[in-house]
Amino acid sequence: MPGTRAAAYTLTVTRDPVPTDGGARRDPAGARGDGAPSTGTAPLERPTASERTVARDASAALPDSVPILVVGAGQAGLSVGYHLLRRGLEPAGDFLIVDRGPGAGGAWQHRWDTLRLGDAHRIADLPGMGETGRSFDSAPTEPPAAVVVGDYYARYEDAFALDVARPVDVTDVRTDADGTFVVSTADARADVRTRVLVAAVGTWGSPRLPDVPGVEDFRGRQIVTPEFRSPADFAGLRVAIVGGGASALGFLREVSPVATGVRWFTRRPPAFSDPAKGLSEDLGRESVRLQDEAARAGRELPSIVSTTGMPLTPRLRALRDAGLLERSPMFARVVTDGVVHADGTFEPFDAIIWAIGFHADLGPLRSLGLDARRGVRVADGHALDVPGLFLAGYGPQASTISANRGARRIARDAQRYLSDGRWPPAR
Ligand SMILES: Cc1cc2nc3c(=O)[nH]c(=O)nc-3n(C[C@H](O)[C@H](O)[C@H](O)COP(=O)(O)OP(=O)(O)OC[C@H]3O[C@@H](n4cnc5c(N)ncnc54)[C@H](O)[C@@H]3O)c2cc1C
Repeated sequence: MPGTRAAAYTLTVTRDPVPTDGGARRDPAGARGDGAPSTGTAPLERPTASERTVARDASAALPDSVPILVVGAGQAGLSVGYHLLRRGLEPAGDFLIVDRGPGAGGAWQHRWDTLRLGDAHRIADLPGMGETGRSFDSAPTEPPAAVVVGDYYARYEDAFALDVARPVDVTDVRTDADGTFVVSTADARADVRTRVLVAAVGTWGSPRLPDVPGVEDFRGRQIVTPEFRSPADFAGLRVAIVGGGASALGFLREVSPVATGVRWFTRRPPAFSDPAKGLSEDLGRESVRLQDEAARAGRELPSIVSTTGMPLTPRLRALRDAGLLERSPMFARVVTDGVVHADGTFEPFDAIIWAIGFHADLGPLRSLGLDARRGVRVADGHALDVPGLFLAGYGPQASTISANRGARRIARDAQRYLSDGRWPPAR
């Protein structure tokens, strides 16, 4: 993340977050990329859906128009696809799902190899996933989460013939005089026109960038969460980890054993919750309420972890017992070879990992006047100021379980809007 931060990030992650090994490491067939399972436990099979769609769609043209276009095939987009199917709509004819990723798995396919299912919270099953014979509750926790989720989503796409078109990178969306969306893609295929646009784009492509003074001056290694590849990249370094969420804690746990020293910085003292109670219902509800309130008012979304706290999992407890879960208050500025604390003292660092959260990845919607950093007025998945635009997985829907719930409503309302043109659709 040196020099021009946003540009560097855009080049290295937003356009192609897959590491430079040609994608073989992300082959959900196995970490070897040769179709063989990567571990002895619960072998995973080849991703039939992603394999088929990549091969087919590389040469296929997109349609000139489709009634409903879903951008993004992560948890939110696939859930919407499922509920559209349930309502009798046909993939490719009535709706089309596109995704810029090379394979199935949403953002998960791009996450670092040492991340395992169960490291953070729980991944809810996609609706109807039982029919594929898979459940995240019994998924293997030894292979990388990227591989497991990629495999499970691929099976899901295949089982329901969702026919995701990929890689298709939506770069711009405009409306014409009658409110039809005109959707442009990166590879200059013809524009696609649609009456209903479901942006299920997630947040992975839009990490928050640090605004601490001096960030540009730092001469060491500096990354944001989506750029993390392996703890080995930090071996022998003095590392500052910034952020109070699951990613920061995961980095703390993984980097501590190999680094010369690690310090953990957060703006506020972190709160931990009892994992035995899961994400307690009250906290979960309160978090969703705050997200919903901000979304309806068009304010920037609050951080989820500030409401829910982090579950103190056995792994984190071990970290605490080893004295590694000691948080330091946020430093005041960055200098070439370290940081300066609020009291003016200097502390040297070789690397800084900024795990400071994400915004919804709404860049392609900027022509419609939307900017997630300023806030977007969204209620029940409807972008209130843009008729026909749904934001799936946004705000109160930004977890796998709430994305599933929101998707049912979005599918229903998309169909209603197509038939009566009322915006926002009535309850
Ligand atoms: C490290 C980490 C761990 C997490 N762990 C959990 C957990 O344990 N449980 C949980 O519930 N949640 C977890 N989350 C949050 C989790 O990512 C979401 O709950 C969920 O997976 C998001 O699904 P989504 O469909 O909204 O987004 P994504 O999975 O990000 O999918 C969005 C899709 O849209 C595509 N896309 C984006 N922009 C474009 C474009 N312009 N054109 C075409 N395609 C586009 C992307 O390629 C991507 O496939 C975690 C998040 C992080 C960062």
